[in-house]
Amino acid sequence: MQTKDFYKILDIDEMATDSDIKSAYRKLARKFHPDIAGSSPENVARFKDINEAYSTLIDKRKRYDYDALRRLYSYTSEQQHTKNYSDTTNSVNNDTKYQSKNYFYGMWEDFLKTQYQQKEYKKQHTPPPENGSNITTEVTITLEEALYGTSKKINVLHTKPCSKCNGRKFVNGAVCPQCNGSGLESEHKKFTVKIPANVKNGYKIRIANEGNPGSNGGKNGNLYLLIKIENNSDFKYDGCNILRTIPITPYEAVLGADVEIPTTNGTLTMKVLPNTNSGQKFRLQGQGLTKNGITGDLIVTVEIKIPENLSKEEIDLYRKLAKISSNNIRKGI
Ligand SMILES: [Zn+2]
Repeated sequence: MQTKDFYKILDIDEMATDSDIKSAYRKLARKFHPDIAGSSPENVARFKDINEAYSTLIDKRKRYDYDALRRLYSYTSEQQHTKNYSDTTNSVNNDTKYQSKNYFYGMWEDFLKTQYQQKEYKKQHTPPPENGSNITTEVTITLEEALYGTSKKINVLHTKPCSKCNGRKFVNGAVCPQCNGSGLESEHKKFTVKIPANVKNGYKIRIANEGNPGSNGGKNGNLYLLIKIENNSDFKYDGCNILRTIPITPYEAVLGADVEIPTTNGTLTMKVLPNTNSGQKFRLQGQGLTKNGITGDLIVTVEIKIPENLSKEEIDLYRKLAKISSNNIRKGI
């Protein structure tokens, strides 16, 4: 009967070198190969044992474990045998010896099983790499910035695994005091981002790897800048020209006035000429946008607007004006 002692199976001693093991294995594998020795169950089992013995002893790590277990077994079984010799017959003793050798093989199998289970456990309990999520942040820019491109300082809130508990939520069995058990930590990150020219409202600009950080070797997410162009109805554009409508009072329209106009380059004073009509346009040269080396104009359309809450005195003056006015502007309609 086979005793499943790998050294005995290969017919080598415990001091055998790798090359001893290899040559012993080659010899036996050739001899007991089912193609040569026949495929009786005994032969197949023996061939299997030879292979198992070889693969265990040729693997340094496995051989080390196997030897340790074998020494432990021979120590305990020697004590057992001494005891057996003293109070049993030989035949019973042989039987016990055989059983205990199988028992040793069982120990080895258990050992391999435990090792496999430990590896599996580790595999299952090591969290898989997780990629960080993407962050989308809104960036509001003016129409001029959208046309020209700009640089913007932004502040992005990143969420990353807690640095104290590494995202495990607990430290020494207690809820992590740093993240209060959320496993997460927030971090503000400041960026200066370049926004290219000619971006449209709702445009998304991708900044790779600046999203939330990945964990366990996972990749970082991306940062997306969602462009929002300020809705400023005072400004309209026609190519490089800026178009604006400016209200003037009836007396400014008649008498003329110096009107202050806020522009992208600061405040400008525009001369409204006497007798200006509603809808009349004034062109301020070189006060438009510069695009591809061409600078447009600021084109102002004036609109006569009656001020709200006129005083009694003002209304009386209008009455007087109405009485003395000799012009009929609807003549010929
Ligand atoms: Zn924590």
